[in-house]
Amino acid sequence: MQTHPALARLGTESAFSVLARAADLQAQGRDIINLGIGQPDFPTPDNIVEAGIRALRDGHHGYTPARGILPLREAVAADIHARRGVEVSPDRILVMPGGKPTMFFAITMFGQPGAEIIYPDPGFPIYRSMVEYSGATPVPVSPREEDSFGYRAADILSRLTPRTRLLILNSPNNPTGGVMTREETNALVAGLEDRPDVAILSDEIYSRMLHGGREHVSLLGYPSLADRLIVLDGWSKTYAMTGWRLGYSVWPEALVDSAERLCVNCHSCVNAATQYAGIEALTGPQDAVDTMMRAFDGRRRLIVDLLNALPGVRCPDPGGAFYVFPNIEGTGLDGRTLQTRLLEEAGVAAIAGASFGETATGNIRFSYANSEDNIREAMGRMRELLA
Ligand code: PLP
Repeated sequence: MQTHPALARLGTESAFSVLARAADLQAQGRDIINLGIGQPDFPTPDNIVEAGIRALRDGHHGYTPARGILPLREAVAADIHARRGVEVSPDRILVMPGGKPTMFFAITMFGQPGAEIIYPDPGFPIYRSMVEYSGATPVPVSPREEDSFGYRAADILSRLTPRTRLLILNSPNNPTGGVMTREETNALVAGLEDRPDVAILSDEIYSRMLHGGREHVSLLGYPSLADRLIVLDGWSKTYAMTGWRLGYSVWPEALVDSAERLCVNCHSCVNAATQYAGIEALTGPQDAVDTMMRAFDGRRRLIVDLLNALPGVRCPDPGGAFYVFPNIEGTGLDGRTLQTRLLEEAGVAAIAGASFGETATGNIRFSYANSEDNIREAMGRMRELLA
Protein backbone atom coordinates (compact mmCIF):
# COMPACT_ATOMS: atom_id res chain seq x y z
CA MET A 1 0.00 0.00 0.00
CA GLN A 2 1.16 3.53 -0.63
CA THR A 3 -0.38 5.95 1.82
CA HIS A 4 -0.10 9.73 1.93
CA PRO A 5 3.14 10.81 3.65
CA ALA A 6 1.15 13.24 5.83
CA LEU A 7 -0.10 10.24 7.83
CA ALA A 8 3.38 9.79 9.29
CA ARG A 9 3.23 13.36 10.60
CA LEU A 10 0.08 12.88 12.65
CA GLY A 11 0.69 13.20 16.38
CA THR A 12 -1.55 12.00 19.18
CA GLU A 13 -2.78 12.79 22.67
CA SER A 14 -0.77 10.91 25.27
CA ALA A 15 -3.53 11.34 27.84
CA PHE A 16 -5.20 8.38 26.14
CA SER A 17 -2.12 6.12 26.49
CA VAL A 18 -1.63 7.10 30.13
CA LEU A 19 -5.31 6.33 30.68
CA ALA A 20 -4.86 2.91 29.05
CA ARG A 21 -1.78 2.11 31.16
CA ALA A 22 -3.58 3.26 34.33
CA ALA A 23 -6.50 0.96 33.43
CA ASP A 24 -4.05 -1.97 32.89
CA LEU A 25 -2.50 -1.40 36.30
CA GLN A 26 -5.96 -1.15 37.87
CA ALA A 27 -6.95 -4.43 36.23
CA GLN A 28 -3.87 -6.00 37.90
CA GLY A 29 -5.30 -4.88 41.25
CA ARG A 30 -3.19 -1.73 41.72
CA ASP A 31 -4.77 1.26 43.45
CA ILE A 32 -4.44 4.08 40.92
CA ILE A 33 -5.40 7.70 41.50
CA ASN A 34 -6.13 9.28 38.17
CA LEU A 35 -5.01 12.89 37.92
CA GLY A 36 -4.22 12.42 34.24
CA ILE A 37 -7.55 12.61 32.56
CA GLY A 38 -9.01 15.82 31.15
CA GLN A 39 -12.62 15.21 31.99
CA PRO A 40 -14.83 16.11 34.96
CA ASP A 41 -15.28 13.31 37.49
CA PHE A 42 -18.96 14.28 37.83
CA PRO A 43 -21.75 12.51 35.99
CA THR A 44 -23.75 14.35 33.34
CA PRO A 45 -26.59 16.07 35.24
CA ASP A 46 -29.81 14.01 35.38
CA ASN A 47 -32.00 16.52 33.55
CA ILE A 48 -29.63 16.33 30.55
CA VAL A 49 -29.52 12.52 30.56
CA GLU A 50 -33.33 12.43 30.76
CA ALA A 51 -33.62 14.81 27.81
CA GLY A 52 -31.43 12.50 25.72
CA ILE A 53 -33.50 9.44 26.68
CA ARG A 54 -36.75 11.32 26.00
CA ALA A 55 -35.48 12.31 22.56
CA LEU A 56 -34.84 8.66 21.70
CA ARG A 57 -38.29 7.64 23.02
CA ASP A 58 -39.85 10.49 21.02
CA GLY A 59 -38.42 8.97 17.87
CA HIS A 60 -35.48 11.23 17.14
CA HIS A 61 -33.59 8.41 15.45
CA GLY A 62 -32.75 9.85 12.09
CA TYR A 63 -30.29 12.20 10.45
CA THR A 64 -30.53 15.86 11.31
CA PRO A 65 -29.36 18.81 9.20
CA ALA A 66 -25.56 18.75 8.97
CA ARG A 67 -25.39 22.13 10.75
CA GLY A 68 -27.35 20.77 13.71
CA ILE A 69 -31.03 21.16 14.60
CA LEU A 70 -32.25 24.76 14.59
CA PRO A 71 -33.53 24.79 18.22
CA LEU A 72 -30.06 23.78 19.40
CA ARG A 73 -28.32 26.40 17.27
CA GLU A 74 -30.80 28.96 18.60
CA ALA A 75 -30.07 27.85 22.16
CA VAL A 76 -26.33 28.25 21.50
CA ALA A 77 -26.92 31.75 20.06
CA ALA A 78 -28.96 32.69 23.16
CA ASP A 79 -26.25 31.29 25.45
CA ILE A 80 -23.54 33.25 23.61
CA HIS A 81 -25.67 36.37 23.98
CA ALA A 82 -26.24 35.76 27.70
CA ARG A 83 -22.64 34.91 28.58
CA ARG A 84 -20.59 36.85 26.09
CA GLY A 85 -22.98 39.73 25.34
CA VAL A 86 -22.70 39.20 21.59
CA GLU A 87 -25.38 38.63 18.94
CA VAL A 88 -24.46 35.70 16.67
CA SER A 89 -26.85 34.41 14.03
CA PRO A 90 -27.66 30.68 14.37
CA ASP A 91 -26.72 30.51 10.67
CA ARG A 92 -23.07 30.92 11.65
CA ILE A 93 -23.19 28.17 14.30
CA LEU A 94 -22.37 24.56 13.51
CA VAL A 95 -23.11 21.71 15.93
CA MET A 96 -20.14 19.37 15.95
CA PRO A 97 -19.31 15.93 17.38
CA GLY A 98 -17.17 17.43 20.18
CA GLY A 99 -14.59 20.18 20.17
CA LYS A 100 -11.85 18.44 18.19
CA PRO A 101 -13.45 18.34 14.72
CA THR A 102 -13.48 22.15 14.63
CA MET A 103 -9.69 22.08 15.02
CA PHE A 104 -9.42 19.51 12.26
CA PHE A 105 -11.56 21.58 9.89
CA ALA A 106 -10.06 25.00 10.69
CA ILE A 107 -6.46 23.81 10.51
CA THR A 108 -6.91 21.90 7.26
CA MET A 109 -8.71 24.92 5.75
CA PHE A 110 -5.65 27.12 6.29
CA GLY A 111 -2.73 24.73 6.56
CA GLN A 112 -0.63 23.97 3.50
CA PRO A 113 3.08 23.86 2.71
CA GLY A 114 4.51 27.36 2.97
CA ALA A 115 1.85 28.59 5.40
CA GLU A 116 2.67 29.25 9.05
CA ILE A 117 0.27 28.55 11.89
CA ILE A 118 0.91 29.98 15.36
CA TYR A 119 -0.22 27.71 18.18
CA PRO A 120 0.11 27.56 21.99
CA ASP A 121 3.08 25.59 23.36
CA PRO A 122 2.47 24.08 25.83
CA GLY A 123 -0.95 23.45 24.39
CA PHE A 124 -3.52 20.87 23.43
CA PRO A 125 -1.41 18.39 21.41
CA ILE A 126 -3.87 18.10 18.55
CA TYR A 127 -3.13 21.66 17.36
CA ARG A 128 0.46 20.84 16.47
CA SER A 129 -0.43 17.40 15.22
CA MET A 130 -2.97 18.81 12.77
CA VAL A 131 -0.70 21.65 11.67
CA GLU A 132 2.02 19.10 10.82
CA TYR A 133 -0.52 16.91 9.05
CA SER A 134 -1.66 19.83 6.90
CA GLY A 135 1.92 20.48 5.75
CA ALA A 136 2.01 23.97 7.28
CA THR A 137 4.86 25.11 9.52
CA PRO A 138 3.99 25.08 13.22
CA VAL A 139 5.08 28.25 15.03
CA PRO A 140 4.91 27.81 18.81
CA VAL A 141 4.24 30.65 21.22
CA SER A 142 4.58 30.22 24.98
CA PRO A 143 3.00 31.85 28.01
CA ARG A 144 5.11 32.88 31.00
CA GLU A 145 5.09 31.14 34.33
CA GLU A 146 5.45 34.51 36.11
CA ASP A 147 2.11 35.58 34.57
CA SER A 148 0.46 32.37 35.91
CA PHE A 149 0.66 31.17 32.30
CA GLY A 150 -1.39 34.01 30.84
CA TYR A 151 -0.32 34.95 27.30
CA ARG A 152 1.17 38.33 26.50
CA ALA A 153 -0.03 40.02 23.32
CA ALA A 154 3.51 41.10 22.37
CA ASP A 155 4.78 37.50 22.52
CA ILE A 156 2.04 36.38 20.12
CA LEU A 157 2.30 39.35 17.75
CA SER A 158 6.08 38.89 17.49
CA ARG A 159 5.46 35.48 15.86
CA LEU A 160 3.49 36.94 12.93
CA THR A 161 5.23 36.82 9.55
CA PRO A 162 3.92 37.49 6.05
CA ARG A 163 3.34 33.72 5.81
CA THR A 164 1.09 33.48 8.91
CA ARG A 165 -2.33 32.15 7.89
CA LEU A 166 -3.88 31.11 11.20
CA LEU A 167 -3.42 31.94 14.87
CA ILE A 168 -4.68 29.40 17.42
CA LEU A 169 -5.52 30.66 20.90
CA ASN A 170 -6.81 28.78 23.93
CA SER A 171 -7.91 30.58 27.07
CA PRO A 172 -8.44 29.18 29.66
CA ASN A 173 -5.62 26.93 28.57
CA ASN A 174 -5.00 23.21 28.65
CA PRO A 175 -2.53 22.17 30.13
CA THR A 176 -1.52 25.24 32.15
CA GLY A 177 -4.90 26.56 33.37
CA GLY A 178 -3.64 30.00 32.28
CA VAL A 179 -6.11 32.73 31.36
CA MET A 180 -5.43 35.67 29.05
CA THR A 181 -6.37 38.99 30.66
CA ARG A 182 -8.67 41.59 29.10
CA GLU A 183 -5.76 44.02 28.84
CA GLU A 184 -3.57 41.57 26.90
CA THR A 185 -6.52 40.48 24.74
CA ASN A 186 -7.27 44.12 23.84
CA ALA A 187 -3.61 44.63 22.90
CA LEU A 188 -3.60 41.44 20.83
CA VAL A 189 -6.74 42.41 18.94
CA ALA A 190 -5.36 45.91 18.30
CA GLY A 191 -2.22 44.30 16.81
CA LEU A 192 -4.28 41.91 14.68
CA GLU A 193 -6.20 44.80 13.15
CA ASP A 194 -3.11 45.45 11.00
CA ARG A 195 -3.23 41.86 9.74
CA PRO A 196 -6.71 41.22 8.32
CA ASP A 197 -5.27 38.30 6.32
CA VAL A 198 -4.66 36.25 9.49
CA ALA A 199 -7.54 33.98 10.56
CA ILE A 200 -8.01 33.10 14.23
CA LEU A 201 -9.17 29.90 15.88
CA SER A 202 -10.12 30.66 19.47
CA ASP A 203 -10.59 27.48 21.50
CA GLU A 204 -12.91 28.57 24.32
CA ILE A 205 -13.92 25.10 25.54
CA TYR A 206 -13.08 26.07 29.16
CA SER A 207 -14.93 29.40 28.96
CA ARG A 208 -17.14 28.60 31.98
CA MET A 209 -14.28 27.24 34.11
CA LEU A 210 -12.69 30.21 35.84
CA HIS A 211 -11.40 30.60 39.39
CA GLY A 212 -10.15 33.21 41.79
CA GLY A 213 -12.01 36.14 40.22
CA ARG A 214 -10.60 35.62 36.70
CA GLU A 215 -12.83 36.57 33.74
CA HIS A 216 -13.17 34.91 30.39
CA VAL A 217 -12.57 37.35 27.56
CA SER A 218 -14.15 35.89 24.44
CA LEU A 219 -12.78 36.97 21.09
CA LEU A 220 -16.40 37.06 19.92
CA GLY A 221 -16.60 40.40 21.74
CA TYR A 222 -14.33 42.09 19.15
CA PRO A 223 -16.21 43.15 15.98
CA SER A 224 -12.95 43.81 14.11
CA LEU A 225 -12.25 40.05 14.10
CA ALA A 226 -15.75 38.84 13.18
CA ASP A 227 -15.03 38.14 9.50
CA ARG A 228 -12.04 35.85 10.25
CA LEU A 229 -12.72 34.37 13.67
CA ILE A 230 -13.63 30.75 14.35
CA VAL A 231 -14.69 30.00 17.93
CA LEU A 232 -14.71 26.48 19.34
CA ASP A 233 -16.76 25.64 22.43
CA GLY A 234 -18.95 22.79 23.59
CA TRP A 235 -20.56 20.74 26.28
CA SER A 236 -17.78 18.25 27.11
CA LYS A 237 -16.22 20.03 30.06
CA THR A 238 -18.95 22.41 31.32
CA TYR A 239 -21.67 19.77 31.49
CA ALA A 240 -19.49 16.69 32.08
CA MET A 241 -20.47 15.33 28.65
CA THR A 242 -17.13 14.20 27.17
CA GLY A 243 -18.50 10.86 25.98
CA TRP A 244 -21.61 12.29 24.33
CA ARG A 245 -19.44 13.99 21.69
CA LEU A 246 -21.15 17.33 21.42
CA GLY A 247 -19.52 20.66 20.59
CA TYR A 248 -20.17 23.73 18.49
CA SER A 249 -18.28 26.31 16.52
CA VAL A 250 -19.03 29.82 15.33
CA TRP A 251 -17.73 30.54 11.82
CA PRO A 252 -17.29 33.70 9.81
CA GLU A 253 -19.89 34.06 7.05
CA ALA A 254 -17.26 33.46 4.38
CA LEU A 255 -16.35 30.02 5.81
CA VAL A 256 -19.53 28.58 7.26
CA ASP A 257 -20.71 26.91 4.04
CA SER A 258 -17.32 25.24 3.51
CA ALA A 259 -17.32 24.09 7.13
CA GLU A 260 -20.82 22.66 6.69
CA ARG A 261 -19.65 20.86 3.56
CA LEU A 262 -16.81 19.34 5.59
CA CYS A 263 -19.44 18.12 8.10
CA VAL A 264 -21.42 16.49 5.26
CA ASN A 265 -18.27 14.82 3.96
CA CYS A 266 -17.08 13.76 7.40
CA HIS A 267 -19.84 12.84 9.83
CA SER A 268 -23.19 13.94 8.27
CA CYS A 269 -24.51 15.22 11.58
CA VAL A 270 -24.23 14.82 15.34
CA ASN A 271 -26.51 12.09 16.67
CA ALA A 272 -30.00 13.46 17.16
CA ALA A 273 -30.68 12.52 20.80
CA THR A 274 -27.42 14.11 21.91
CA GLN A 275 -28.48 17.37 20.27
CA TYR A 276 -31.73 17.39 22.29
CA ALA A 277 -29.72 16.74 25.45
CA GLY A 278 -27.59 19.73 24.46
CA ILE A 279 -30.67 21.99 24.38
CA GLU A 280 -31.61 20.91 27.91
CA ALA A 281 -28.04 21.54 29.09
CA LEU A 282 -28.09 25.14 27.88
CA THR A 283 -31.66 26.03 28.76
CA GLY A 284 -32.30 23.93 31.89
CA PRO A 285 -31.16 24.53 35.48
CA GLN A 286 -27.46 25.32 35.87
CA ASP A 287 -27.07 24.38 39.55
CA ALA A 288 -25.16 21.16 38.79
CA VAL A 289 -22.61 23.23 36.83
CA ASP A 290 -22.32 25.69 39.72
CA THR A 291 -21.79 22.84 42.19
CA MET A 292 -19.09 21.33 39.98
CA MET A 293 -17.30 24.68 39.62
CA ARG A 294 -17.34 25.22 43.40
CA ALA A 295 -15.80 21.77 43.88
CA PHE A 296 -13.09 22.51 41.30
CA ASP A 297 -12.30 25.79 43.00
CA GLY A 298 -11.71 24.10 46.38
CA ARG A 299 -9.60 21.37 44.79
CA ARG A 300 -7.51 23.90 42.90
CA ARG A 301 -6.57 25.70 46.10
CA LEU A 302 -5.81 22.38 47.81
CA ILE A 303 -3.59 20.96 45.06
CA VAL A 304 -1.70 24.25 44.51
CA ASP A 305 -0.89 24.42 48.26
CA LEU A 306 0.13 20.76 48.46
CA LEU A 307 2.32 21.00 45.34
CA ASN A 308 4.07 24.15 46.52
CA ALA A 309 4.88 22.40 49.80
CA LEU A 310 6.79 19.63 47.94
CA PRO A 311 10.57 19.90 47.65
CA GLY A 312 11.71 21.13 44.23
CA VAL A 313 8.18 21.89 43.01
CA ARG A 314 6.86 25.33 42.01
CA CYS A 315 3.21 25.69 41.06
CA PRO A 316 1.53 28.91 39.89
CA ASP A 317 -2.12 29.32 40.83
CA PRO A 318 -3.97 28.87 37.55
CA GLY A 319 -7.05 30.88 36.70
CA GLY A 320 -9.05 28.39 34.70
CA ALA A 321 -9.90 24.87 33.50
CA PHE A 322 -9.15 22.06 35.97
CA TYR A 323 -5.41 21.66 35.51
CA VAL A 324 -2.25 22.68 37.33
CA PHE A 325 1.11 22.68 35.60
CA PRO A 326 3.87 22.75 38.21
CA ASN A 327 7.51 23.21 37.34
CA ILE A 328 9.33 20.17 38.73
CA GLU A 329 12.91 20.91 37.59
CA GLY A 330 14.01 21.35 41.21
CA THR A 331 13.24 17.68 41.91
CA GLY A 332 16.07 16.61 39.60
CA LEU A 333 13.57 14.67 37.44
CA ASP A 334 12.18 15.65 34.07
CA GLY A 335 8.45 15.48 33.40
CA ARG A 336 8.53 12.19 31.50
CA THR A 337 10.53 10.41 34.18
CA LEU A 338 8.27 11.75 36.88
CA GLN A 339 5.18 10.72 34.89
CA THR A 340 6.46 7.14 34.61
CA ARG A 341 7.62 6.87 38.19
CA LEU A 342 4.46 8.41 39.60
CA LEU A 343 2.31 5.92 37.73
CA GLU A 344 4.42 2.78 38.04
CA GLU A 345 5.78 3.26 41.58
CA ALA A 346 3.21 5.49 43.30
CA GLY A 347 0.03 4.68 41.40
CA VAL A 348 -0.66 8.31 40.44
CA ALA A 349 -1.54 9.13 36.83
CA ALA A 350 -0.37 12.52 35.53
CA ILE A 351 0.86 13.73 32.14
CA ALA A 352 4.38 14.97 31.38
CA GLY A 353 4.60 18.56 30.17
CA ALA A 354 6.50 17.41 27.07
CA SER A 355 3.25 15.81 25.85
CA PHE A 356 1.95 19.34 25.39
CA GLY A 357 4.98 20.87 23.74
CA GLU A 358 8.72 21.05 23.43
CA THR A 359 9.05 23.94 25.87
CA ALA A 360 7.58 22.12 28.86
CA THR A 361 9.97 19.24 29.60
CA GLY A 362 10.33 20.49 33.20
CA ASN A 363 6.59 20.48 33.93
CA ILE A 364 3.90 17.93 34.61
CA ARG A 365 0.12 18.31 34.33
CA PHE A 366 -2.22 17.25 37.08
CA SER A 367 -5.94 17.33 36.45
CA TYR A 368 -7.80 18.02 39.67
CA ALA A 369 -10.96 16.36 38.41
CA ASN A 370 -10.79 14.04 41.41
CA SER A 371 -11.90 14.14 45.05
CA GLU A 372 -10.06 16.17 47.70
CA ASP A 373 -9.26 12.92 49.54
CA ASN A 374 -7.69 11.44 46.42
CA ILE A 375 -5.77 14.66 45.74
CA ARG A 376 -4.37 14.58 49.31
CA GLU A 377 -3.45 10.90 48.98
CA ALA A 378 -1.82 11.46 45.55
CA MET A 379 0.27 14.39 46.80
CA GLY A 380 1.31 12.31 49.83
CA ARG A 381 2.48 9.55 47.52
CA MET A 382 4.38 12.07 45.40
CA ARG A 383 6.08 13.40 48.54
CA GLU A 384 7.23 9.87 49.42
CA LEU A 385 8.46 9.26 45.87
CA LEU A 386 10.47 12.51 45.85
CA ALA A 387 11.97 11.66 49.25
N1 PLP B 1 -9.85 21.93 23.34
C1 PLP B 1 -9.12 21.78 24.45
C2 PLP B 1 -8.21 22.86 24.87
C3 PLP B 1 -9.23 20.60 25.20
O1 PLP B 1 -8.50 20.46 26.32
C4 PLP B 1 -10.07 19.57 24.75
C5 PLP B 1 -10.19 18.29 25.47
O2 PLP B 1 -9.44 17.96 26.35
C6 PLP B 1 -10.78 19.77 23.57
C7 PLP B 1 -10.66 20.97 22.90
C8 PLP B 1 -11.61 18.68 22.97
O3 PLP B 1 -12.86 18.60 23.47
P1 PLP B 1 -13.83 17.44 22.98
O4 PLP B 1 -13.64 16.29 23.92
O5 PLP B 1 -15.18 18.06 23.09
O6 PLP B 1 -13.48 17.08 21.58
